[in-house]
Order: sequence, then structure tokens, then C-alpha cells
Amino acid sequence: MSDSSKKTLLRMIGHEYKSGGYDKAVLAVGSTEYHGEHLPYGTDTLVAEHIAREVSSRVNGLLVLPSLPFGMSAHYSSFPVAVTLSTETLMRVLKEVFDSLRSHGLNRLLIVNGHDGNIPAIGAATREYRAHHPDFKIAVLEAWWETAGQLVPEGTFEVWGGLGHAGEGETSMMLRVAPSLVDLKKAKGVVPDLPLHVQLIWTFDELTPYGATGDPTKATKEKGRLMSDALVSLLVEFIEKMDERDWELLTPFSS
Ligand SMILES: [Zn+2]
Repeated sequence: MSDSSKKTLLRMIGHEYKSGGYDKAVLAVGSTEYHGEHLPYGTDTLVAEHIAREVSSRVNGLLVLPSLPFGMSAHYSSFPVAVTLSTETLMRVLKEVFDSLRSHGLNRLLIVNGHDGNIPAIGAATREYRAHHPDFKIAVLEAWWETAGQLVPEGTFEVWGGLGHAGEGETSMMLRVAPSLVDLKKAKGVVPDLPLHVQLIWTFDELTPYGATGDPTKATKEKGRLMSDALVSLLVEFIEKMDERDWELLTPFSS
């Protein structure tokens, strides 16, 4: 595979795009918000972009778009600093990205979301968009932290199934993605006691004084490698399968 296939559009020059044979794109949607004392503000963006780039280097014709560094972080704004978009703004940004891609014939898009607050905007924007533009095909990895937990061997995580904002799973992932940006000595979190079947709508300071939930002290690079490898394999197989069926939804998926 050529070098340009590993580049994001941010760093690509025109002739590399033209000769790259791109027929689909991947968009990482992140956030800029406090991730405890031990992880960088760009954690959600960095993790989503890492997954996007790894997948693109293993399949044909997948263009990595510049990542969206801002998401809907209102519920994390009690810790300094969160740069947040409203859900309405994020929906609009997404739809205008879809319009732009579509106008250039890039009608197949994978979204890798890195942040819980973006899920409502991504869900509404993609569904509304597809209802008006059925020719534009969209697939979403909505919550990698939950998907990874389902894919890694049982017993990988020690606390709360690895969940949590800046918790065991996310911190492990960052040890895989950008270890030099992690300060494990500062890691501290708490597992919130929440009801099982009804969602309490919290602001993050109501869950934790540390700006982190779960137990980041249990994070390891190996857990991060397991999560990353599992997610990348899943998405590579997914894209290959979608390409085989020409991104048609009516074709049985298991065939
Ligand atoms: Zn995060």
C-alpha cells in the first residue's frame, strides 16, 4: 500500500488524493475536555483518529478526513477546560460534512465516535440525512469503549468492565495510542453508584471529584493493545464486507 494511504486529508496533497482511488471516507469525531489529572484534553479525538487511521491503512480506498476536535461536552464543563458545541451545532457540522463529501462523489462514510456526548447528535444527523439522501451510506462505531469491552477476552478488565471517562479502558487505550501523553502517577477515579435501568442525567461533577470515573490505576498498555486490535480488526472486516456487497443494505449481511 502506498504511503499516501496512511495520510489524513489534512496532510495530503492534491495528486495523492487523485491517484489514491478513494471511494469512501472515515471521520473521527472527538471532543476537547478534561480527562482527569492523567490524560490529555484531546483523548477522545486521539483515540478515534487512531482507530480511523489504523483501519484505513488496512483497507482499500478509505480516506481519513481531518478529525473533528470539538464535540458536545456540556455535561463535562464543570471541569476546566471544555470546549463544547451544542448538539444542534454538531448536527449541522456533520450534515454539512456529509453534503461536502457527497458533492465530490464520496458517498460512503464510516464515523468513529470518541465521546459519549456526541452520540445524540450523530444519531439524529445521520438518520435525518439518510432519509433525505438514501444514496449516501453511513456506518457508525458509536461507542468504541463499549464495543471493545465486548470484544476483548473475558476478564481483561478488573474494574467496572473497563468503563469510565478516563477510566481503566480509556486510559489503557491511551497507553497504546499516545503513551507519552499519559501520566499514570496522577491517575485517580471513582466508580459511580448509578441505577441499572433508568438513566440519571448527570453533570460530571455529580459523579466524581476527580474528573475521571472507573479505575485508571488498573490501566495497562497490553489492555490497550487488545482493545485497539479488536476494534481495528472488527472495522477492517466490516469495511471489506460492505465493499463486497457494494454498501447495499438489503443484501443479507451474513452471506
Ligand atoms: Zn474520553
